[in-house]
Amino acid sequence: MSSVIKILPDNLINKIAAGEVVERPASVVKELVENSLDAGATEVFVDVEQAGRRLIKVADNGSGMTREDALLAFERHATSKIASEPDLEAIRTMGFRGEALASIASVSRVRLLSAQRGAAGVLVEIEGGSLGPASDAASPPGTTIEVHHLFFNTPARLKFLKSPSTELSHIIAAVSHLAMARPDVRFRLTHDKKAVLDLPAAGDVGERAFQLYGQELSGNLLAFSAERAPARVSGLIGKPNCDRGDKTYQEFYVNGRFVRNPSLSHALAEAYRDLVMRDRHPVGFIFVDIDPAFVDVNVHPAKAEVRFRNQSQVHDLVRDAIREALRGAHAPDARAGRVQEAAAEYLRNADAGVVGPSSERRHAEWPLTPSLSREGSGGLISPLPPGERNEVRGDASPRFPAAALLQPLAQVHGSFIIAQDNDGMALIDQHAAHERVLFEKLQDQYTSGTVPQQSLLLPVQMELGHAETELLKELLPELRRLGIAVEEFGGTTFVIKAVPALLAGGDSKSLLMDIIGEVRLHGQSGKMDALRDEVLAVMACHPAIKVHRRLSLQEMEGLIGDLFACRMPHSCPHGRPTIIRFSMDEIKRMFKRI
Ligand code: ADP
Ligand code: MG
Repeated sequence: MSSVIKILPDNLINKIAAGEVVERPASVVKELVENSLDAGATEVFVDVEQAGRRLIKVADNGSGMTREDALLAFERHATSKIASEPDLEAIRTMGFRGEALASIASVSRVRLLSAQRGAAGVLVEIEGGSLGPASDAASPPGTTIEVHHLFFNTPARLKFLKSPSTELSHIIAAVSHLAMARPDVRFRLTHDKKAVLDLPAAGDVGERAFQLYGQELSGNLLAFSAERAPARVSGLIGKPNCDRGDKTYQEFYVNGRFVRNPSLSHALAEAYRDLVMRDRHPVGFIFVDIDPAFVDVNVHPAKAEVRFRNQSQVHDLVRDAIREALRGAHAPDARAGRVQEAAAEYLRNADAGVVGPSSERRHAEWPLTPSLSREGSGGLISPLPPGERNEVRGDASPRFPAAALLQPLAQVHGSFIIAQDNDGMALIDQHAAHERVLFEKLQDQYTSGTVPQQSLLLPVQMELGHAETELLKELLPELRRLGIAVEEFGGTTFVIKAVPALLAGGDSKSLLMDIIGEVRLHGQSGKMDALRDEVLAVMACHPAIKVHRRLSLQEMEGLIGDLFACRMPHSCPHGRPTIIRFSMDEIKRMFKRI
């Protein structure tokens, strides 16, 4: 069989982002596994010892190499994946620079054993970059590469390695990312001969997420997909109640490659903007597949970043697709989580006075699983017919049909509405609910281009600081579109002349100060586009029915009706829940009746 690897010509080498690919053991694991995937492997076994310092071994059942290729593979810029400049525009493989094996071999002792199907095996050994002869050796079809004593000849880099547990965690993360991108491939990772990951080939990414992250996380994910040529986006996103304190579970893949990309991160954050609280972060495994001509993977030495040619288009596609999925799936499940939380919280409090370590266990046994809540026959929790409930619906936003079933009974402490439906009860936060209603009304008015305005009988004059003055000057045109007419009066003085009709009668000065505050908080980085909903949320908060206000039954009914006419009735624009529901089953369980 003839050799397929070629040394790249100089002009092409110069176009390739040069740089260090071997930073730590995890980089070696990543490069070797990528090669296995490029070779068409369906099984990849990774064994490391001493967190990769002593040994990294990657064995695959891929295409294998000829004797010539096995020798050529370790030359710098030797690759079988691209040959000419146009190929750089159409990269579908994980590798393309022909640098990884050369770099790895220069800082370790490498053994490569490889065989193509039906051909004799070949063994090559390299120490610190000097290639030994190739010899015949028995080998199953595929390739096994062993990297011994990484950085043995570069003590400085050895010193930069972190603790074994840190390096191991990077290795696990690297394998997990590769495994998420390729659920169809079997992966196994062992450390010091103990299994760390063992992932049989999975049917889809949801199953892979389950294998990797367990039921608790994967059970709270929604699958979604959407397409707008030349890109397609799909993946798994967390229900709004499954938010996290950091961005660990935000992963982005472009054409199967795990990447960091600020624009994609931003799209995810934006999709959840009024669904998770300020300092919380949504969960998302997002896969963008796009014609390779539209993406440059040649921008980072370790190929960890990509650049889109149509960046804002991809950004908007991702944001809209997630938003749509959240809307379609909206809330039943999210709320089941909230009910669970509320019940757990209730139990914690109830247990507070009770002696005993058993309370922990009792929480664990408490049978409030999301499925139980979902199974409840209450119109609220199960607005969709069974079978449709978990599906992401890409069509127009389904309206929540349950308002009619929810009948207000009373108000607690002038703040919360108690209501019942045919199989349970709900507590509604009147302020949060009204904020949501106003927010969506303002949003609708804004999008339709006509925010009804009301002129102030007495224009309100206000004096600002210098920084605020500059900020406000920039904001004026956008404020006008939002229905707030403000004029410069000279120096740092402004006059408010009109406000949106929905907000009439409120304190327009403090409204404007709050908007400026909001813009200052988020402003620098953001375009007004991204900020608009934040500003609308501030606006909605102003006249919203405050806590400690008595409502008549009729007012409560009106509010509930308005709330459930909303696109996202279950949280206020700041991400707090508007409603918490208990099914009769749950109530009975709390009273130990069942
Ligand atoms: P690149 O992946 O950028 O081409 P590498 O240095 O990682 O560069 O690998 C060089 C070449 O060695 C690859 O192009 C491929 O032809 C061959 N190769 C490396 N690993 C394997 C493998 N596991 N199975 C088959 N061929 C491999
Ligand atoms: Mg490679």
